[in-house]
Amino acid sequence: MRRRTILAAGGVVVGSVTAGLASRLPTAHRSLSAARRPGDAGEASTNAEPLLPGTDHETTLYEIDAPRDGPTAMVFGGVHGDERSGIVVARQVAEWRPDAGTLVVVPETNRVAVENGEREGVDGDLNRHFPADREPLTDLARGIWDAVERYDPDVVLDLHRSLGIRGLHREFVGQAVYHSPDARGEELAAALDDAVPWYLPFHRFAASETNLSGPLLFQKAARELGASAYLFETTEFLLDREARVELTRLAAAHVLDMHGLLDAEGER
Ligand SMILES: [Zn+2]
Repeated sequence: MRRRTILAAGGVVVGSVTAGLASRLPTAHRSLSAARRPGDAGEASTNAEPLLPGTDHETTLYEIDAPRDGPTAMVFGGVHGDERSGIVVARQVAEWRPDAGTLVVVPETNRVAVENGEREGVDGDLNRHFPADREPLTDLARGIWDAVERYDPDVVLDLHRSLGIRGLHREFVGQAVYHSPDARGEELAAALDDAVPWYLPFHRFAASETNLSGPLLFQKAARELGASAYLFETTEFLLDREARVELTRLAAAHVLDMHGLLDAEGER
């Protein structure tokens, strides 16, 4: 049975309504549908390889090459090991079929933390280990960064989840799209808001241009490689797991669509 989250006031079923909404949205549906089907130009080829092989941190990187040339996008899940929606969706993205370019996916970036179901791994918060003008701080961070440098992505998307709601809970960011100055964060937030029901006004996505001097993985990719970079957050507050997964999946499809890896217009 699907677990349902009930709004205390009014008894509105939140999770299942939100989760079912995307299929009624033409734009979102086109992006998702384009992500899943092989393109007209032929089948993409997928290659899986271990990062940090032979270490406690060993994790799988998937490279999916579309038959047509195009940009390179990297998608990360599990930088925080207890944020399941990003991990689930990144595993799905590894099965997607871009129409152009190269899609690189690391579903369990901090694999030890993912296996333990904890935010941090053995060396603390991985998403604080990418400082400006220095090597990444840990073996895990260096191994991940080596892969990022090797692929030199045009686009980076890091998938997270928050607790709480911005404006209601002072310490939490709620539903948010953080983005580098050149990225299309406002457009992504607006597209995602189409999937947020009218009765959840505090769940509208806030787009925020990020300060590139910070120690987060997506900030380092923007700062040092010039990638258009995004950090996506959906919230556990009043959204069940299925709803969070759906919003995360939409975010991933939209980013790939906006940056030219998908041919959503060709979808009928
Ligand atoms: Zn996180």
